[in-house]
Amino acid sequence: VSSEIMPSYTTAQRRPADEGEGALCAELVSWLITELPDEWSTGVRLGQPVDPQLTAALDVDLFLRRLGATGFATPELPREYGGKDATPDEVRSIASTLNHFMVPSPNDFVGVNLVAPTLLAWGTDAQKHRYLPAIASCTDRWCQLFSEPGAGSDLASLTTRAVRFGDGWSVSGQKVWTSRAHRADHAILLARTEPDLPKRQGITFFVVDMHDPGVEVRPLRQMTGESHFSEVFLQDVQVSDDARVGPRGAGWKVAFSTLMSERTSLSVMQDDHHLAIDDLIRRSAANGWSNPALRDRTIQLLVRDRVLQLTNLRAQARLRVGAPPGPEGSITKLFSSELSRDIAAAAVYGLGSRASAWTPADDDAAHAVDAFLFGPARTIAGGTSEIQRNIIGERVLGLPREPEVDREVPWREIQTRRSPRTTVSDDTQ
Ligand SMILES: Cc1cc2nc3c(=O)[nH]c(=O)nc-3n(C[C@H](O)[C@H](O)[C@H](O)COP(=O)(O)OP(=O)(O)OC[C@H]3O[C@@H](n4cnc5c(N)ncnc54)[C@H](O)[C@@H]3O)c2cc1C
Repeated sequence: VSSEIMPSYTTAQRRPADEGEGALCAELVSWLITELPDEWSTGVRLGQPVDPQLTAALDVDLFLRRLGATGFATPELPREYGGKDATPDEVRSIASTLNHFMVPSPNDFVGVNLVAPTLLAWGTDAQKHRYLPAIASCTDRWCQLFSEPGAGSDLASLTTRAVRFGDGWSVSGQKVWTSRAHRADHAILLARTEPDLPKRQGITFFVVDMHDPGVEVRPLRQMTGESHFSEVFLQDVQVSDDARVGPRGAGWKVAFSTLMSERTSLSVMQDDHHLAIDDLIRRSAANGWSNPALRDRTIQLLVRDRVLQLTNLRAQARLRVGAPPGPEGSITKLFSSELSRDIAAAAVYGLGSRASAWTPADDDAAHAVDAFLFGPARTIAGGTSEIQRNIIGERVLGLPREPEVDREVPWREIQTRRSPRTTVSDDTQ
């Protein structure tokens, strides 16, 4: 099986990647050659792995800021905001070049993939000039203050309030599961400004300063052992009206752009917890494909991986003609998160007892177990698999809408019905 179907995967850990094509990639390659130590760039060009000592010695933040200054951290952004005006095909080639040179990629997922497209679609000129260049240069970091303890899948039920205060707004409430809140400079936030309107019509979208004294971040521990996300408490946080994105009460529409971009980006994201199909194949091949059950699972996962790649290309073709990300993003989000979870589970199965007791030097086992423990989070973050299936059913397949009894009911009334003793203060102005 290994030699006939997958000759290129049996010996190589990484799939061979090229240096990308076109003038932009040529510019990036020559920048990388001058920027990286000689042994690093020459080794990569000769197809050799990078010496781990060189990787460990790299100052990642400094490297990313220097990459950002060239515009290659966010090539899709217009040049006036610090990008390269690159087409989606050029963006893909640039990503492949960075991957080929084994350098760190921009690590502000929210800033690059959620905030930038949302501000391009809805921001004022002043907001674009204020926030986008700092995203492009990798100097500012962002987080997303959407989910709340009682509003995750049903995000439109959110209760965080923004009330008029002088010329601006005062925001109070609680958010949860906020990824990377502890190191963010700014946040995008959804808050209720019109409690007397139905739940989707009374929400406004803001940018919030995470260094405001009214913002408190409390990290939450995940089963991987790390604290990737936090609870965020907001108490009378002052937000100027210049930081409102889109019209008052139109936050749900603005958030729709953000969520669509999030789903599309999550489907192609490869973070530290990710275990690629190539890695699983390498693991299966390493013991001579001797376990038939693992061999079967690996082949099935390889087929799913190929289907995902083709579906991603189809979803991205939409962006190539200038259309906003559509519900196809829900297909790729659903498919990629479940695939990633299942690849990690197969790797852990292949490890056998090494998955529960490994030596400190056994990085291979540690990586697979970490990916396995992060697997369920993937099928929840960015909208759960059940919610993606609902979206696909309604917007792609044209099935009837899920019943929703409170869709047109004023939000204030829903709160009163939920808890008769709760009073919602009359502080909209
Ligand atoms: C790793 C990670 C990072 C995250 N980062 C962020 C972040 O940075 N910012 C942010 O705002 N949020 C973030 N989230 C939160 C995430 O968006 C929510 O967890 C998610 O939307 C689900 O909401 P919930 O947790 O409240 O679950 P609930 O909505 O309470 O759902 C509970 C269960 O009920 C099911 N369910 C709910 N409604 C329906 C329905 N209508 N039909 C069928 N099934 C349904 C769900 O699928 C789920 O299985 C993150 C989550 C994770 C896991």
